[in-house]
Amino acid sequence: MNQSTDSTSGFQIVVISGPSGSGKTTVVSRLERESSVPLIKSISATTRPARVNEVDGQDYYFFKQEEFDRKREAGEFLEYAEVHRTGYWYGTLKSEVDRARKLNGWALLEIDVEGALNVMQQYPGAITIFLTTPSEQEFERRLRDRGTEQEEVIQRRLQTARQELKSANLYKYTVINDHLDRAVNEIQEILHHHAGEHCEHA
Ligand code: 5GP
Repeated sequence: MNQSTDSTSGFQIVVISGPSGSGKTTVVSRLERESSVPLIKSISATTRPARVNEVDGQDYYFFKQEEFDRKREAGEFLEYAEVHRTGYWYGTLKSEVDRARKLNGWALLEIDVEGALNVMQQYPGAITIFLTTPSEQEFERRLRDRGTEQEEVIQRRLQTARQELKSANLYKYTVINDHLDRAVNEIQEILHHHAGEHCEHA
């Protein structure tokens, strides 16, 4: 059985992705605190060095490359990806999803598009949300309204935006973070809807 949609336990995997500047981190921490559905954020593993103020085992599990590789070879990751071609690897440990399940919560994964696609293949029932900024939707209009950019620049920027929107189409939901409270509420409603589905089946 697809574990993420096990209708007897009601366990779910929730995936949130979005381009930088979409306000993902803020939205995720608001959801963790306020969601009526208990959400347990999966702590990702990464090979990138910790930033100031980041705590190992809290913000990320900071692994040396060898440790990351060893866990990958041992099949300990649900998904992993080299994010933004930085040379740094990021991954979701299966043990993090199990932790959420044991706590009777839903696992919340804040991961990149490549990782999300991987999760979608393994768990088609996962609730996948692409968070985006309103400027992406209005990008072309604003670019053209400004009238200052050369056509070549406009085309290049549009291509990037299109690429991102293509990714958005792969997700079950696209939420525009035009206003923080509104975006958080919209996601809450999505989660509520899925929690309700479970109750109807129970
Ligand atoms: P940062 O280094 O700024 O904390 O994160 C960079 C990017 O890594 C973000 O876009 C975030 O979504 C992605 N990321 C964080 N954890 C994971 C993970 O476990 N798996 C994947 N595939 N991407 C992740």
